[in-house]
Amino acid sequence: MLSYEAARAKVIDVICARRCAPPPPTETIEFADDPSRVLGRIVAEDVRADRNYPPFNRSTRDGFALRAADAAQPGAKLRLIGESRAGVPFGGLVEPGTCVQIMTGAPLPRGANSIVMNEYARIEGESVVMEQAAREGAHFILEGQETRVGESVIARGKRLSYAELAIAAQVGRTRLVVAKKPRVAILSTGDELVAMDQTPAKYQIRNSNNVSLAAQVALAGGEPVMLGTAPDNLAELRAHIERALEADVVALTGGVSVGKYDLVEQVLREMGAEFYFDAVAIRPGKPAVFGFCHGKPVFGLPGNPVSTMVTFELFVVPAIELLSGHQPDPLALLKAKLAHPLNEKPPLAHFLPARVSWPEGEAVVEAIHWEGSGDIGSLVKGNCFLVVHEAKLVYAAGEMADVLPRRGLF
Ligand code: AMP
Ligand code: MG
Repeated sequence: MLSYEAARAKVIDVICARRCAPPPPTETIEFADDPSRVLGRIVAEDVRADRNYPPFNRSTRDGFALRAADAAQPGAKLRLIGESRAGVPFGGLVEPGTCVQIMTGAPLPRGANSIVMNEYARIEGESVVMEQAAREGAHFILEGQETRVGESVIARGKRLSYAELAIAAQVGRTRLVVAKKPRVAILSTGDELVAMDQTPAKYQIRNSNNVSLAAQVALAGGEPVMLGTAPDNLAELRAHIERALEADVVALTGGVSVGKYDLVEQVLREMGAEFYFDAVAIRPGKPAVFGFCHGKPVFGLPGNPVSTMVTFELFVVPAIELLSGHQPDPLALLKAKLAHPLNEKPPLAHFLPARVSWPEGEAVVEAIHWEGSGDIGSLVKGNCFLVVHEAKLVYAAGEMADVLPRRGLF
C-alpha cells in the first residue's frame, strides 16, 4: 500500500505525464473595477514591467538631499534652496553648498547623491545643519533598482494574491490572462443519501460530502460541478459517472470500500479506467482510489465525511492545481508542540482532527476527541489535522508534531 506521500507524488507524476503537455485553457479577465474577480486565479502569462521601478531615483526618507562631499563631517551647514515632494520634483540643481528638503517617495534632485534624515538635521533660518555625516547613496533607491522595464514581475503559474494584484496594478495591467478554473464534477454515491434540503427518514442521512467537496474545490481554485447523488446500482452509477466525465476532474465519494454495495471501482473498470492506486496507508481515508477514465483524472474518495475531506486535500488539490498550470507545493505542514502524549496504531499515517493555538506565542496542538471518520463535529471544534506519520507513532507531551492547517482558515 502506498504511503500518502507516495500516493500524492503518484497523482502529480501521472497527471503531468498524461495531461501537463497541453497548457491549460485560458481566459482574459478585466478586473480594474473588481480585483476580487482574479483573486486566487493562476496567471497564464509572464506579466512584465512597463517601465523601470522605481521610475526615478526615489527617496525612502523625509530629510535633506545634498552632495555627500558637502557633509563629510557632522556639523556641515548647507543653504536650503527648495523642496521635492512626492509627485512634485525640485526643478533645479543641487549645487555645492546647498540642499533640498525632500519627502519620502519624492524624486532625488539632480546633483544630489545622498539624503540626511530629518532626525539628523536642524533648520537654522535659510540653512540646514547636518548633525550627522552624509553617506553617498544613503536613503534613496535608484531608478530601475527594484525592477527593470520588460522584466517579469509575475511568473506564469503563480497564484494571484494581493501582492501580485498590487504589482499588476503598478505595471498598469487592468486585465490578466489566467487559467480557466478546472471543472471538478462532484458526485456522491449511496442509497442512504438524501439532498441537504430534504428531510431524511430515520435510516437516511443528508449528503454533506457534496457540500464540503464543493467548498474544497473552490478553495483549491476549481469550479465545482454539482452532480448530486448516485444510487448503489451498476447501471445508474455508470450513467452518473458518464456525466461526471464531461468535467475536467471527477471526485466521487462513497462506494470504494470492500462492501457488497461498494461499486465505484467496478463501474470505473468496466468503463475502461486505469487505476494507479486503490488504497493509501492513512487513517482516515484508506480506501482512496485514483485512476484515469476517458482521459480524465478520477478520484474515488471514501464516503465517510472526514475521510472525504482528508483525501481531497491530499490527492485532489494537487490535481486541480496542475490542471490550472500551477505546480503543487509540498504539503504545507506546520510544526506545533503537542499538548498531550500520543500513541497511534501502525501501519498507517493518521490525520487527526485537532486544534492549533498560540497561547504564549508558540504553536501548540491538541487532538480533539472523535468518534471516527464519520464525526464531522470533531473537525468543527478544531482548525487543523494533527499528522502522525507511520515512522513515528508515539509522542510524549511537549514534543513537536506536524500540523496540516485546514485550507482557508489560516
Ligand atoms: P461508503 O464509503 O459508501 O461505505 O460510506 C461510508 C460512510 O460514509 C457511510 O456511513 C455513509 O453513510 C457515509 N457517507 C457516504 N457518502 C456520504 C455523503 N455524501 N455525505 C455524508 N455521508 C456520507
Ligand atoms: Mg456507500
